[in-house]
Amino acid sequence: MTHFDYICIGGGSGGIASANRAAKHGKKAAVIEATAVGGTCVNVGCVPKKVMWFGAHVAEAINLYAPDYGFDVTVNNFSWQTLVDSREAYIKRIHGSYGNMFKNNGVTLIEGFATFVDKNTVEVGGKLYTADHILIATGGRPVKPNIPGADLGIDSNGFFELNEQPKRAVVVGAGYIAVELAGVLHALGTETELVVRKHAPLRNFDSMLSDTLVELMAQDGPSLRTHATPTQVLKNADGSLTIEFENGDSVETDCVIWAIGREPANDNIGLDKIGVELNERGYIKVDKYQNTNVEGIYAVGDNIGYVELTPVAVKSGRLLSERLFNGQTDAHMDYSLIPTVVFSHPPIGTMGLSEEEAKSEYGEENITVYKSGFAAMYTAVTKHRQMTRMKIVCAGENQKVVGLHGIGFGMDEILQGFGVAMKMGATKADFDACVAIHPTSGEEYVTM
Ligand code: FAD
Ligand code: NDP
Repeated sequence: MTHFDYICIGGGSGGIASANRAAKHGKKAAVIEATAVGGTCVNVGCVPKKVMWFGAHVAEAINLYAPDYGFDVTVNNFSWQTLVDSREAYIKRIHGSYGNMFKNNGVTLIEGFATFVDKNTVEVGGKLYTADHILIATGGRPVKPNIPGADLGIDSNGFFELNEQPKRAVVVGAGYIAVELAGVLHALGTETELVVRKHAPLRNFDSMLSDTLVELMAQDGPSLRTHATPTQVLKNADGSLTIEFENGDSVETDCVIWAIGREPANDNIGLDKIGVELNERGYIKVDKYQNTNVEGIYAVGDNIGYVELTPVAVKSGRLLSERLFNGQTDAHMDYSLIPTVVFSHPPIGTMGLSEEEAKSEYGEENITVYKSGFAAMYTAVTKHRQMTRMKIVCAGENQKVVGLHGIGFGMDEILQGFGVAMKMGATKADFDACVAIHPTSGEEYVTM
């Protein structure tokens, strides 16, 4: 039996960050990982997704923009497999750098699936490991609908296993993943339909973002099918699939991708044995310090069901180690004002309250909204003009910036700096006091 000060179950964003921080404070730490180090983000999430998104960018540059910039380009071939190979080679290098980081920090990597024996002991492949503190950072997994033929479709994990580009694809779902995967497939040349069960994708975002995305999808694709709830998927004699909807419609395709949400991956690790409480949706209940109800057991990341983003898992994991192992007794994650980007085409950046949320929180009379819309300069000189729309939502007499939203070229990179300003409590006057950088899209935020 090996004893550690700290064991992190799950070698994803949260577990790795927390174990490394504990080790930097001199603790004997271990990470237990059942599949690939790096977790969802590195292997089947942010990283491979962003590589595909960059691939899509290259395609858009060639197909949509190059001609009006004077390039007469002939594309002989697009090899999906080459893009996948480049992506996977990059991921392999990330695995290597994690290995080096563990070595340098003195973190032990234990490969295998961990289950609790008691609150200080876990079993991995027949071996027992004990620790004073144990972090559960087991993440989540995609769900499929409970309808006949659902397994004929793939999920986001399956998308990253595709070694051939589908000619046609139907992506079902209305959140980040559905929008991102549909956008990538379309830009790379797959005939793609995004299917949502309500009126629009991203309908919980500021309406300007959702409306503009729908408008741009109508202009550039992928095609959008609204108010469509799938009822079954059938396999046809030629190997194609037919997806049927509640309203009687159906569509034939080569690939169905479910992107209808995720669930926590904590159901099979023996939490019942040690009495860790879950909420009604199966997520681990934690207080603001990431403590579960069982002393010495903590949880961070996607399995607590707060904000499912890599930097959130990383930050809360690091702060937990600062609290446990570096005497920072009040260190805890601040879940307010988290900037986030949807890697759509064009990307969406958003932080804080939507206009609708701000109105209901502060009252309509206490809100001031600033908007801007223009064709992104990169596209404005071509026949494929693409709108950028930006919005600042301010509250109170001093016009504190409580919401910042944008959709357009470069929005993914613009948001981070404005995020710092918002975290510092910036007002509209503070924004205005900053000199614009010209010519950029970001300058609109300081000149509205
Ligand atoms: P994970 O990263 O999922 O890690 C959990 C790890 O625990 C896994 O490796 C799993 O194998 C392991 N595990 C589970 N049970 C056990 C066990 N019993 N024993 C041992 N190991 C176990 N976020 C962003 O911020 N930006 C993005 O662009 C972005 N894009 C995404 C795209 C997709 C397609 C998906 C699915 C997610 C994306 N996310 C993105 C979300 C991000 O990936 C997650 O929020 C993040 O990975 C959560 O980290 P985690 O540590 O909680 O869990
Ligand atoms: P989300 O929860 O974001 O979105 C899923 C959406 O699918 C729901 O909001 C719902 O929208 C719709 N839906 C739910 N059930 C069904 C159903 N049975 N049939 C049809 N549609 C359904 O989940 P995702 O899987 O997209 O992403 C999970 C999380 O991962 C995200 O919330 C995000 O935190 C993270 N992520 C972050 C990324 C980034 O930072 N760029 C990228 C990818 C993921 P409606 O109610 O409108 O129908």
